[in-house]
Amino acid sequence: SGSPRVSHVDVAIIGAGPAGCMAADVLSRYTDRGLSVRVFDKRSAKLDNGQADGINSRTLEIFESLGFVESIDKEGSRMSEINFWNPDPETGRLIRTGKIPDTIPGLSRFQQTILHQGRVEAHLLEDAAKHSKGAIVPERSMLPESLDVDESLVSDLDAYPITLAVRHLSDDESNPNGYAGDAAGTRSGLFRSSLLSAEEEEALYHQNGAHAERVEVVKAKYLVGCDGAHSWTRRQLGIKMVGDQTTFVWGVLDMIPLTNFPDIRMRCAVHSANAGSIMVIPQERDLVRLYIQLPIQVRPGERADKSQFTPDFILETARKVLHPYTLETEHIEWYTGYHINQRLTNSFGVHNRVFLAGDACHTHSPKAGQGMNTSMQDTWNLCWKLGAVATGIAKHELLQTYSDERQVVAQQLIDFDKKFSKLFSGKPSAADDLDDGVDLKEFKDVFVAGNRFGAGMSINYADSSVVGKDGSKGGIQSKQHLAANLPVGERFYSAQVVNQASATADQLTTRIPFTGAFRLLVFPGDVTKPAAMDRLIKLADYLDGPDSVVSEYTPANLPRWSVVDPITIHCAPRTAVELYDFPQPSIFYPHNYKRIFADEPSYHRGDGKAYETYGISKEEGAIVVVRPDQYTGLVVGLEDTDLLDEYFARILRPAKDGGFPASKVDKVSPPDWSKVAH
Ligand code: FAD
Repeated sequence: SGSPRVSHVDVAIIGAGPAGCMAADVLSRYTDRGLSVRVFDKRSAKLDNGQADGINSRTLEIFESLGFVESIDKEGSRMSEINFWNPDPETGRLIRTGKIPDTIPGLSRFQQTILHQGRVEAHLLEDAAKHSKGAIVPERSMLPESLDVDESLVSDLDAYPITLAVRHLSDDESNPNGYAGDAAGTRSGLFRSSLLSAEEEEALYHQNGAHAERVEVVKAKYLVGCDGAHSWTRRQLGIKMVGDQTTFVWGVLDMIPLTNFPDIRMRCAVHSANAGSIMVIPQERDLVRLYIQLPIQVRPGERADKSQFTPDFILETARKVLHPYTLETEHIEWYTGYHINQRLTNSFGVHNRVFLAGDACHTHSPKAGQGMNTSMQDTWNLCWKLGAVATGIAKHELLQTYSDERQVVAQQLIDFDKKFSKLFSGKPSAADDLDDGVDLKEFKDVFVAGNRFGAGMSINYADSSVVGKDGSKGGIQSKQHLAANLPVGERFYSAQVVNQASATADQLTTRIPFTGAFRLLVFPGDVTKPAAMDRLIKLADYLDGPDSVVSEYTPANLPRWSVVDPITIHCAPRTAVELYDFPQPSIFYPHNYKRIFADEPSYHRGDGKAYETYGISKEEGAIVVVRPDQYTGLVVGLEDTDLLDEYFARILRPAKDGGFPASKVDKVSPPDWSKVAH
């Protein structure tokens, strides 16, 4: 009875898995600028075990940017080495045939770590609640019922073109029995696995009767569908998943093993002669995950019978693969089964108003540890753009770069997974059947080559309004040679620098955490040389002027560094210059002691050699523009202020209130130098 409640929100998120939780956390940074966000999930409770567990280097860098990588590192189980086990060609007995480092040394400051998905989601949500002062908390037991997009409103940025009806479920409607453990406390993941069809999964969330008062109508400006592989949002939009279903069927056990297999605390790829393969993943809390290839045949287009997937059956199969090593267990915490599907949607959303992210637009096998990482990185890419557009900072067209950038990544992921899972699921080739079997040398080579990809480091976004590479797709042309080792379109990486004001060694990335701002990293060279200092002063005159990218795009009610944030890294000896030698306010912002750094040796942590690391000449210098999501967007010279103007004019909207001129900032007067002791 009664009519449904109607409410309004800027951004609605459907699904609180890794993609939805990352979206919530990124958007939480815009709530103090008035952005409203709601997150709906049909499940009544958060995930507390199982599912994804591998966090790659790139995701850890993102967590650093968000400010909580230390907690993840403390809780997780770091992976250092991969061991390969294969049948001895002579005897067929399982032997260790090689080892490689788990993350290529030098690739990132962070190495792959293992922590289960539920904990990752919890960290993101805690952070979102903190930054939104409690405003963003997922609303659980909320099932969307209808979605309508009014096309006549999509180009009006103040309109709410999306109408979403959501039903409040009761506890028993939103808590499928399958989540409860069995008598031994073993939980099943079959209820979330790819073995279920969308209809079967939906039937778990039965709706008892049509109570109109339990339906709420939400009018939204934007909607992000993060509702997983069976995405309801995707089906409402009529977007299809295309791709293949393989015949490979795998089981997963998270357990405390009792074994004499010597590498049980290593990541291992084990290929037995005739009993299939196993991947070993050492987890947190002394748990170990085994991915086990199962002797189950599924014909194309059919689904595997779920009743075959019991913990005993999966364990028994594992024993055969690991033979002659023993395998018993004290406790199985979680198990599941899956059938590998490699699929991708042909669209990541509609009208740049409704977006799909995560498993809703790409599915593949879990063994390469990419799903959770890619899903979070999807919304990491989308949501700074969405935050900036929805708060009036950026132009609506910026949103188009989300699908342009992430669709390419998703396709690369599917291609990689096809190769990887085929090699993993195949039988080792005997000397006489090279054509059929898996060449174990090739397997190891793919593993090594895949390492950079798997770490999330091979992403290179194409030219666009936000990636000024070569101008081929609407971007502007960078002067890449000025920072030869910072390829435009790739993720910006850290180098150690020394704070001019405090003499403290700092990683540059910790100085540029996620705030939604673009960073202008200014490398003026050796500022004790008059030419270098002149160049810096000229740049400062521009930045302090009323039409600079800082003055024009920053609303007067925000801090002056919240849209375009200049940070200076010079390479003069720190003690040869004073903080007060630097021009105010755009370069040395009064009383802000974290914007000027020196590239020199530190007292306790060695020499970061930032200029050398980045390939920047100490004579020429450079300006490197880093996007809010830590990808290099543009490289130009210190005098190229016209290129800065052009770059930002394509992305940002001039502040409605006329901007934030430098004249509004009170400079500090330098100290009386005659009284400063030497
Ligand atoms: P999901 O995690 O599926 O989250 C979707 C959310 O939406 C859920 O909370 C769900 O309740 C909710 N939802 C669904 N439908 C609706 C609806 N209609 N209304 C409201 N809410 C809805 N990835 C890795 O990166 N590394 C790994 O090591 C790894 N290992 C894996 C191991 C296993 C055994 C499995 C099964 C997967 C693994 N993955 C791994 C993949 C990873 O779990 C997924 O890619 C990841 O969870 C996708 O995140 P998501 O947020 O897109 O979707």
